Amino acid sequence: MRTPDESVVNGSKAAQASAKDLPSIDRLLKQPAVQRLVGEHGHTLVARCCREVIERARVRALAGSLDIGGAQPDQLTQAVDEAIHARLAPSMRAVLNLTGTVIHTNLGRALLAEPALEHLLRMMSGPNNLEYDLDAGGRGDRDSLIEGLICDITGAQAATVVNNNAAAVLLTLAALGRGREVIVSRGELVEIGGAFRMPDVMAAAGATLVEVGTTNRTHPQDYERAITPQTALLMKVHTSNYAVQGFTAAVDEAQLAEIAHRHQLPLASDLGAGSLIDLAAYGLPREPTPQEKLAAGCDVVTFSGDKLLGGPQAGLIVGSRDAISRIRKFPLKRALRLSKLPLAALEATLRLYLRPERLARDLPTLRLLTRPQEEILAQANAIVQAVESAVMPQFLVQVETTLGQIGSGSLPVERLPSAAITLAPTAKSGRGRALDALASALRGLSLPVIGRIGDDRLWLDLRCLERSELLTDQLPALKEALA
Ligand SMILES: *Cc1c(COP(=O)(O)O)cnc(C)c1O
Repeated sequence: MRTPDESVVNGSKAAQASAKDLPSIDRLLKQPAVQRLVGEHGHTLVARCCREVIERARVRALAGSLDIGGAQPDQLTQAVDEAIHARLAPSMRAVLNLTGTVIHTNLGRALLAEPALEHLLRMMSGPNNLEYDLDAGGRGDRDSLIEGLICDITGAQAATVVNNNAAAVLLTLAALGRGREVIVSRGELVEIGGAFRMPDVMAAAGATLVEVGTTNRTHPQDYERAITPQTALLMKVHTSNYAVQGFTAAVDEAQLAEIAHRHQLPLASDLGAGSLIDLAAYGLPREPTPQEKLAAGCDVVTFSGDKLLGGPQAGLIVGSRDAISRIRKFPLKRALRLSKLPLAALEATLRLYLRPERLARDLPTLRLLTRPQEEILAQANAIVQAVESAVMPQFLVQVETTLGQIGSGSLPVERLPSAAITLAPTAKSGRGRALDALASALRGLSLPVIGRIGDDRLWLDLRCLERSELLTDQLPALKEALA
């Protein structure tokens, strides 16, 4: 390293460019290389990027931090090319989810299965029969494309679909409870991430919330006593992202249905994740299914399409013919209806459930959830040395067993035995900063890697890494970023 004085003496200090050394935007545009870019991208974008590049260079020149080369046409052209690519690169990017949470809301929740992707692509690349009845040759209903399939799988009499489960709950409450009272246990007034709070949704739907029971205990008489001529609906909410433990009591759907129906009232249940299969059969923690809630007597059950179901964002509403018909006719339905993109993906995803024996292979969500710990551990052991050589000597690398989660509010207290590669800073001080820098370097890779920090280490849980090379191919770039 030279001192500043030496570099001046040696005459090698790069000369600074001033603002008047910069070409005009027009002159930059006339450069042959820039004209080639215009040929490819058109004038609008290239001119915009030329302006951006010149403006940036001017700011640096005025600050005295632009060397003379930076004002030359070839370097500016290069910068224009980069600005074009930056502008054309989508903000939504693929990432590697190594957080250990399989259905991660921040990372896009469920991954679509191959047949769903294929169907989505085929249906979106041309016209389709979204609302066209191919038998009758006239106007059709988009719900009819999927209703039979949903009823087949869940045993419901009728079904409809909307934008997401929040919309399903809002629509159900509005259609069945607007201007009247809806009874919910105090133990079930949930808040889901992203500002979905049951009391607020109730208010938005125009229904009056009648809370019964206490946080930890609610009894059948609590509901009975709250029923008035103003009551429109009894509602049960699956406490999907927390568990009430200890001295607790809740009224199950079968008991609630008996109370509701004795008063000629409907019962709705918001299931949240709503697995369509018995997860216990796969060695996973049990989650209630819409099938069993309907069998217990619920008139309406709502659940998400992109949680345990493993499909696109959608809200499924299943139930009795009468309740679903009221919901479908309610004007808000039109505003909340499912778009053709997720509809195509949802149909193809649901068809996978017709072959349950293959589901753990065909449905990515279930495939990831059922990966055995030994398999993940073996994978970690197979790549740990490659990771080590990329991050040594700054980080100590180890393979550890760990506990992941299903995610998206499903089964919050149940954990998934998994395995991780952990990276711990070797320095005695500044560990927090070293970990943040490592996490940032991982996020800066072309396929950003998202891990989790805990216990003074960065954890890369490999449950959701089905192809190791997606990580190992990026290790040279990581090594460079850390150097
Ligand atoms: C996740 C969840 C919702 C919201 O579903 P989205 O599909 O995210 O709109 C509503 N209720 C419960 C109980 C949930 O778990």
